[in-house]
Amino acid sequence: MKELQEKILKEGTAINETVLKVDGFLNHQVDPFLMQRIGEEFADYFKNRGITKVFTIESSGIAPAVMAAIKLDVPMVILKKQQSKILNGEVYQTKVTSFTKGTSYELTLSKKYIDKDDKILLIDDFLANGEAAQGGIRLIEEAGATVSGIGIVIEKSFQPGRKKLDDRGFDVYSLARISRLAKGVIEFVE
Ligand code: 5GP
Repeated sequence: MKELQEKILKEGTAINETVLKVDGFLNHQVDPFLMQRIGEEFADYFKNRGITKVFTIESSGIAPAVMAAIKLDVPMVILKKQQSKILNGEVYQTKVTSFTKGTSYELTLSKKYIDKDDKILLIDDFLANGEAAQGGIRLIEEAGATVSGIGIVIEKSFQPGRKKLDDRGFDVYSLARISRLAKGVIEFVE
């Protein structure tokens, strides 16, 4: 998505070879109009998959996910990051290690908000090692539902997440694909 690439070049900061900061429009302040166009782009790409719900991971996936959900005319569900296990049988949980923080959390989904017939579009802000996305996939599959697509706003293609998801046969649509980061350098996949 050309507009997103231009925004990343203009406002993003590569703080080292692995981390891109986009606090000005995605992770802290949000550009709602850009998010709307991002949501429309995801919705357009996945429109013929019979999507019944859009899932995302709190918190930076929420803005693009809700915009896609509006366009697809389906509910949006936030997978929550809990500090510890909940042992009441009403939730699905799986452990995920955070790329940016190096800590882990229990990704949590109430059984009330998923059904085995659901076809889920999973959206997240970044794809790095693929831990968060694979955690979301585990929860969806544990419920017996189907992952019908994965939408990523910014993929760091030089990290292993994309390949892991491709190898498992998922349809991953990333709106910006970064091939290299270095202090002050941001390059995209051709
Ligand atoms: P993964 O689980 O694929 O290793 O990492 C994905 C998650 O880590 C995303 O949900 C995002 O919150 C965070 N993340 C990974 N890389 C970056 C990055 O370069 N910048 C920012 N802002 N977040 C990142």
